[in-house]
Amino acid sequence: MKLDRFLAKQSSLGRSAAHRLIAARRVRVDGSVCTSNQQEVDRFTRIELDDTLLQEPERALYLMLHKPVGILSATVDPVHRTVIDLLDDPDKHTLHIAGRLDRGTSGLILLTNDGRWSKRLMEPVEHVAKVYLVETAEDILPDAVAAFAAGFYFHTEDITTLPAELEILAPRRARLTLYEGRYHQVKRMFHRVQNRVTALHRESIGSLRLPTDLQAGQWRPLTAEEVAAF
Ligand code: URA
Repeated sequence: MKLDRFLAKQSSLGRSAAHRLIAARRVRVDGSVCTSNQQEVDRFTRIELDDTLLQEPERALYLMLHKPVGILSATVDPVHRTVIDLLDDPDKHTLHIAGRLDRGTSGLILLTNDGRWSKRLMEPVEHVAKVYLVETAEDILPDAVAAFAAGFYFHTEDITTLPAELEILAPRRARLTLYEGRYHQVKRMFHRVQNRVTALHRESIGSLRLPTDLQAGQWRPLTAEEVAAF
């Protein structure tokens, strides 16, 4: 929300009184005087009025995890181990997953408690690239490249998939870049070319690549630069 709205709500002063406080340079946002009524603030923002702390910021968390095969992309599950079970951060139960993977898929998973950040990442209009390594049961025929680029009509959602880049690496191995994330999308696309995915691994999301030294089951916080990439 905007700073003036936050102040008006907090202090029940009303919007024009909030504007006056801001104009009088009495409001600090994350430690600096803020003179813009329109400054975006959220629960991770420290907000002070004179010497009074109006809002203690919550701790924003942004993590990457190398999901192993067999672990569920969910925050809780009564039966299976979830990606949250692999973390040891004390605030891990505040996290949600930005882009789930099937239980049998491995690779890069991003977790955060910042809903605005994950929304930017997942928003279909953003077309953030997701790169997968795929192994298949049958040979991948060269004409699959054009078929993936043309898109497939998915009756259930009534959509045609966005152009996807398929790079054949070996007869039964390919790298696939998608610019959207639909339910079981990779498997459904290969099914359309009479093939079956036998192994799937996500290498990257946008500019974030799974580091080669992050073993399956391991995680690390994102750096400030990585967070700023979205
Ligand atoms: N597409 C799939 O079919 N499965 C995944 O886990 C991710 C993308």
